[in-house]
Amino acid sequence: MMEKKNKLIELDGSHGEGGGQILRTALALSMCTGTPLRIERIRARRSKPGLMRQHLTCVLAAQEVCGATVIGAELGSQTLEFRPGRVHAGDYRFAVGTAGSCTLVLQTVLPPLMQADAPSRLQLSGGTHNPMAPPFHFLERTFAPLLRRTGVGLDLTLRRHGFFPAGGGEIDATITPAEGGLRPFDVVERGAPLDAFAEALAPALPRGVAERELEVMGKLTGWEATQLRVLPARQNEGPGNALMATLVHEQLTEVFIAFGERGLAAEDVARQLFAEMRAYQASAGAAGQYLADQLALPLALAVTESGRAATYTCTELTEHSRTNFGVIERFLNVRFDTRLEVSRGGSLWRVDVLPGAS
Ligand code: ATP
Repeated sequence: MMEKKNKLIELDGSHGEGGGQILRTALALSMCTGTPLRIERIRARRSKPGLMRQHLTCVLAAQEVCGATVIGAELGSQTLEFRPGRVHAGDYRFAVGTAGSCTLVLQTVLPPLMQADAPSRLQLSGGTHNPMAPPFHFLERTFAPLLRRTGVGLDLTLRRHGFFPAGGGEIDATITPAEGGLRPFDVVERGAPLDAFAEALAPALPRGVAERELEVMGKLTGWEATQLRVLPARQNEGPGNALMATLVHEQLTEVFIAFGERGLAAEDVARQLFAEMRAYQASAGAAGQYLADQLALPLALAVTESGRAATYTCTELTEHSRTNFGVIERFLNVRFDTRLEVSRGGSLWRVDVLPGAS
């Protein structure tokens, strides 16, 4: 088990990128380390500051998982005090109640539950494919296979898609802690390309939407018809529209997503997705910008537990990632060392997660 630092940690929630990530990472690590937490100015610079429904669900989920004493768990609250208790593995149901992302709730409770003393089963409901959150397919194809390299079991099932504004999506997650503790791993290269395909989701929308998006993706990429797929909708899903591209490499799989919205032509959704995918392909980094910030916490826990370093490379280092690294360093005895490398294959960032001095 890791060292418990029990001195209260105080954070400024508006620091750096200043978003909900500070809250989620701090809650997760407060539970993992048994450290009380006080955050002020939560999302203070956002247009709707403080805890929104999605963030509040994360706080309440965290409270349930560890029996925390919490002050300030209200919509709009900009101050939160969180005194964690012991983390309990078990069966949990967390509902965002709006189309807010339920994958961000998973992001909050996964770290403590993957260090618990038994497996947990989660039923999550809300949005499953939201802008500014990990879409289900990213978690399933990109994040979970890498997390399993720490020894943790993470099995995910999509029961229903949930889009803004209707929500109603459902995900089941089974989390099995690593036997013998978390193992750090490196992901420095993508490895050889194995597969590439695009998928359109357009439940409760005219079928032409998905087909037009895929047709443009086909033209832009040169992919064949078998690489361009319309995903079947389940009953009563949607309305909603997402276009995804998946690049499978030997060492990791990356998933990109663009969302359709009223007033945005299906062709433009495809162009947006293609531009994002090309930006990834133009760099030599293994992880895309989102994976880069989501790998940080599980790797830092594995480094802390094992005392061994981990390294990954990524296409860019966003303010979001840097802010996340800073929060992690407040809780764990680790250091993130980052440097830009430029080679003929393109530029990349190297991130070394190093065990601290003590
Ligand atoms: P804010 O306070 O800014 O409203 P928030 O709580 O809604 O923020 P962020 O702090 O922006 O959310 O965090 C978003 C999370 O979703 C991050 O972990 C990021 O990596 C992830 N994410 C966003 N877009 C994608 C994407 N396209 N694919 C995978 N993950 C994504």
